[in-house]
Amino acid sequence: MRPEILTPLFKNISSLNGIGPKLNQLFIKLLNNEKIISLIWHMPRDFIYRKKVQNLNNNDLNKIIILKVKVIKHNIYFKGKIFIIKCEYKETPIDIYYFSKTASSFIKKLYPLNNEIILSGKLEIYKNKFQIKHPEIFPKLKNINEISIIQPIYSLTKGLTQKIFYKSLISSLKIIPDLNEWIDKDTLIKYKFLSWKKSLISIHKPLDKNDISKNEINRKRLAYDELLAHQLSLNIIRNNNKKSLGIKFKKNNNVENFISKLPFELTDSQKKSVKEIEKDLISNYQMIRLLQGDVGSGKTIVSIIAMINALNSGYQSAIMAPTEILAKQHFETINKFVKSDKIKILFLSGRDTLKNKKIKISKICKHEVNIIVGTHALIQENVNFNKLGLAIIDEQHRFGVHERLAFTHKGSKPNILVMTATPIPRTLTIAAYGEMEESRLTEKPKDRIKIQTSAMPLNKIDKLIEGIRRIIENNQKIYWVCPMIEESEEIDLEAANKRFEKLDKIFSNKVLLIHGKLKPQEKENVMDKFKNKNYNILVSTTIIEVGIDIPDATNIIIEHAERFGLAQLHQLRGRVGRGNIKSNCILLYKNNLSEIAKKRIETIKETDDGFTIAENDLEIRGPGEILGKKQSGFPNFIIADFNYDKDIFEDIRIQTQNLSIDKLNNEENINYKNLLYLFEKDIALKTLKSG
Ligand code: ADP
Ligand code: MG
Repeated sequence: MRPEILTPLFKNISSLNGIGPKLNQLFIKLLNNEKIISLIWHMPRDFIYRKKVQNLNNNDLNKIIILKVKVIKHNIYFKGKIFIIKCEYKETPIDIYYFSKTASSFIKKLYPLNNEIILSGKLEIYKNKFQIKHPEIFPKLKNINEISIIQPIYSLTKGLTQKIFYKSLISSLKIIPDLNEWIDKDTLIKYKFLSWKKSLISIHKPLDKNDISKNEINRKRLAYDELLAHQLSLNIIRNNNKKSLGIKFKKNNNVENFISKLPFELTDSQKKSVKEIEKDLISNYQMIRLLQGDVGSGKTIVSIIAMINALNSGYQSAIMAPTEILAKQHFETINKFVKSDKIKILFLSGRDTLKNKKIKISKICKHEVNIIVGTHALIQENVNFNKLGLAIIDEQHRFGVHERLAFTHKGSKPNILVMTATPIPRTLTIAAYGEMEESRLTEKPKDRIKIQTSAMPLNKIDKLIEGIRRIIENNQKIYWVCPMIEESEEIDLEAANKRFEKLDKIFSNKVLLIHGKLKPQEKENVMDKFKNKNYNILVSTTIIEVGIDIPDATNIIIEHAERFGLAQLHQLRGRVGRGNIKSNCILLYKNNLSEIAKKRIETIKETDDGFTIAENDLEIRGPGEILGKKQSGFPNFIIADFNYDKDIFEDIRIQTQNLSIDKLNNEENINYKNLLYLFEKDIALKTLKSG
């Protein structure tokens, strides 16, 4: 049971004043969560400074000011399309403008004649007269000093205004409880951390510049909390897994036979990984191993070899991918390599009809199938494996290790192999994954031709179009990636749409568009068309980042490459160079690159080794100002960033290493439990209780 003191934070956002169903939906869309707690985790991306003015004067033009005006007259022009409220500030006239379809009666009510009203907005001048357009107004306030001169600004979603968001956030801040400290004293002093509550309030409600200057410390405090919760949770689950024996596979020649019949020779690091995995599999203990390898390094075949191991010993294997498209791809690959009447391979899709799903689940349950491929549908409650011996999780770059380890909660303890295509530096592995064994694929298959990477400014796009013509004549395929723009996915989509339209005009019937707003089935249709039909260009938002394998796609064009992180660029580039034709990656950038962007583009041109790129990524980062801007490419963290927060890993490791499950279950450690609840580490909490 969640401690009562936390209850208010876990109420639904819809319970806040003024949040009806429509707004609630927008909040859920923005935060991916319906709980109040997620509101307070949403960090500001910027701050506006407002000036409280003593006099209206030209020195303050274009600044955001706060003032209290007296309302003199309402003027309406152009059939209500322009609404001007004539006001005065210390006898200087100032006009407040509204250009909108907003009902004028509504505006009139906001500005009662002869009343004083506090407002804030950008001071401008027009025909020698001061004016403010669409100000923010504070109808309930009497005293100008009640308004903070600093206003945090948040990344939001279309339809949700800063004002509504902030109002809800402020109500949420009011219900933050005082909790016992979970960070030890020395650490608090070392980093000058405030309490959890004070840190949050200072970030969201800064009173002055001094508060803003402490933002990074406050953010780090919260990142510390998040990483501490993550680490604790990993330890709890790991310890529990270690308590009893796992499944032991037999060793025989079938695996070697299988390998010798492959159409290629395994690379040295594939061979090494296969051995490391096999050693785990034939031991008494449950394997929990991470297989790291760059895109194209051949992780799939390594995982298939592990499946053959499972089959040999009479066990089922399951492989889970983050998306339908990827799961389908794995299904096809496995079918290609595993050709035997005795081995039954099943694809469980979230889109199966209810009836179909029932049949499939029954097959899984009765062990009528040996290899099961699917998405998260595989770990749903109603799927009961008959004899699951190996669970493979193709994480790409999302690691929700906790959910994944849920495979262990299905009675037995299958061996687990987590595959990830985001190589991370050694120092970060433990922080990210806990104490997992690790195998690395450090080289690409020999026949791979290096991808040619070049960069050109966006204004040279015409030249590029000529190149594309030739590529199309050779019937090769091109990915065209449009950038991510932080503000909202609507804008992302708009950019991709525009690019699609332009290209479609030039190359008619050759261009396709894919983006995150499409339904899974629609996405798959587009991918199928791109793969099998006469289309040559696939314009996309960044969704193709995640593991698509189309060997004919030999070119990738990344528009506004300066907006992508290094790891992301590397991932994207890995979409090409999969066959044995020479591939190209073209980075289109906007002129006037920042130093950091320049370095990134240089690095990506120079090397294609994911491990090197990951190390460099740590170094080529601008300092500070990351509040509210996720850059890490590790979306499972809401605040922590593996790059910015690597300085605290060691302290977290020290703090957690002596905390056994028994200790955690002790009543005195309620503070740690609170922390786990705050970060919704449900599986760890469940384990604690049962442990
Ligand atoms: P990733 O590590 O990105 O998941 P894949 O497993 O999809 O890489 O492998 C990429 C491609 O390389 C596949 O078509 C696979 O069949 C092929 N491949 C894997 N290992 C080798 C090898 N040793 N030699 C040649 N081709 C290989
Ligand atoms: Mg893969």
